[in-house]
Amino acid sequence: MTALPFHDTTDFDDAARGLIGKMEPCVVHAADGRVVWDNDAYAFLDADCPDTANPSLWRQGQLCAQQGLFEVTDGIYQVRGLDISNMTLVEGDEGVIVIDPLISKETAAAALALYRKHRGNRLVTAVIYTHAHGDHFGGVHGVYRDGIPVVAAHGFMEAAVAENVYAGPAMNRRAEYMYGATLPKGPAGQIGAGLGQTTSTGSIGLIPPTVEITGTGQEERLDGVLIRFQMTPGTECPVEMNFLFPERRALCMAENATHNLHNLLTLRGAVVRDARIWAHYLNETIDLFGPDMDVAFASHHWPMWGRERVVEYLSQQRDLYAYLHDQTLRLMNQGYTGTEIAEMIEMPPVLEAAWHTHGYYGSVSHNVKAIYQRYLGWFDGNPASLWKHPPEAAAVRYVDAFGGASVVIAKAQGFIDGGDLRFAVELLNHVVFADETNTEARQLLAGVYDTLGWGAENGTWRNFYLQGAAELRDGVQPLPMELAGAPDLVSALSVGQLFDSVAIRVNGPRAWDSHLTIDWVFTDLRLMHRTELTNGVLIQDDDPARASVDLTVTLTRRQLLGLLAGAVRVDELTTAGDTTALRRLLSVLDPPPGSFPIVTP
Ligand SMILES: [Zn+2]
Repeated sequence: MTALPFHDTTDFDDAARGLIGKMEPCVVHAADGRVVWDNDAYAFLDADCPDTANPSLWRQGQLCAQQGLFEVTDGIYQVRGLDISNMTLVEGDEGVIVIDPLISKETAAAALALYRKHRGNRLVTAVIYTHAHGDHFGGVHGVYRDGIPVVAAHGFMEAAVAENVYAGPAMNRRAEYMYGATLPKGPAGQIGAGLGQTTSTGSIGLIPPTVEITGTGQEERLDGVLIRFQMTPGTECPVEMNFLFPERRALCMAENATHNLHNLLTLRGAVVRDARIWAHYLNETIDLFGPDMDVAFASHHWPMWGRERVVEYLSQQRDLYAYLHDQTLRLMNQGYTGTEIAEMIEMPPVLEAAWHTHGYYGSVSHNVKAIYQRYLGWFDGNPASLWKHPPEAAAVRYVDAFGGASVVIAKAQGFIDGGDLRFAVELLNHVVFADETNTEARQLLAGVYDTLGWGAENGTWRNFYLQGAAELRDGVQPLPMELAGAPDLVSALSVGQLFDSVAIRVNGPRAWDSHLTIDWVFTDLRLMHRTELTNGVLIQDDDPARASVDLTVTLTRRQLLGLLAGAVRVDELTTAGDTTALRRLLSVLDPPPGSFPIVTP
């Protein structure tokens, strides 16, 4: 690996440029007094990098922990360091346009208040969501005023809901590992997440867009400010857009170019992103907007000034994703598997020598595997991998084949002493999965995870290792926040999506023998929906033919939500037919899931 370019301190200049005022103290509370954001907890990053952190990630933490209101260019401001994402404020004729209102209502309100403290009490005249990830819309209630336009790219609501609701419980649990939000912050603990410091934990909402951007080149004038859009579907998010403020020569890069190698597959889990398309759109951005801007900013990290610098930066970001894509495919077509390619790929020296291409959030290792997964899937083609025992069953057999847990632990200690922590993890993980009460193995594995976390340049790898270590020592703690349960997200679901979310809670085996058909007549939506439970699946029909059904339920959408949450009883609804059908359906639904074990069986 090339030596890190510590002599290049331009990022620190850029991250401090235009500072107008800090928030002091930089701590945000919920109405009940709970702390939902504490940037001051990162004050320890002012010190030199300790042995318990990778110097490159430590540096990234120092940059991401800068907080305050900053001027980007004339009439454009950013509040940074009040959440994992940035809020950008663009002053118009009458008030101010908000781009990306952070994750939580509380942090968004605090960011707007910080802006107003220095720029006057301007009214919010529009909201723009750059893309459909929760850290770019969740705090909208902290800035929204009734009736103002809310702007997003075509398909926004579907993308926002699909990513956050269907797989929400699994993603939330894994996000706890990824962001380390519950880990203690400190030199040996959580020092950031690479993309920002961590996620705020306040209340999440979603207000549907009222102005839809449908094509590249579309222009809108909001509060007197001209904005020219570029659609970038399938890049960092299925629905995302970059846009230019031509009158101010300023370019918003959404989350398509930030000061790190981003994720092609975020470790919390998601549908794999397309590196090829990502590079394609970055190239298009340079063509479309390159001549007309003097500054670029994004919804994470700090801006960059100077047309030539920005074009070089965007070109390198483009080359980063293109190189990973093309080289992975080249080696894949020679028969190498994702795990192998991840060890083989070396990045070009020019890219390695820039800071913004480093893997603080995505990594070359897991992105290469993601590209492999996108094209070829989980199976590496070797029949030995086709029908493996699951972890616990394999673990019991490994431990037995070695001659018992104490032998495996001794072998693992040998690999630790020899510096091969990766194989020590493999061995110790088998011991823990064979017998989770083996305290010696748990403690030893936790120690190895600490060391791996402290060495990681990637913030999310560090958090995964340290969270794993914490749970090996102290067990699984309850989740602090339920993203999937956020009322706005649930109420943003269409009736079809709502029943989809019911369908994925049907406990298949318990429902094998139930067959029932229910018509749902929604008085408020003026529509009818039929669900049929058959062979353990809930089939939907939004345009059912006349037929005899077991039960017809007449209700409102709100009553359905109440019914699913257990707040509305069956006998409170207007029904015709056999009400036991509804009770039978409810009885085969699994309760909403909570925390599940990850580093133990
Ligand atoms: Zn984001």
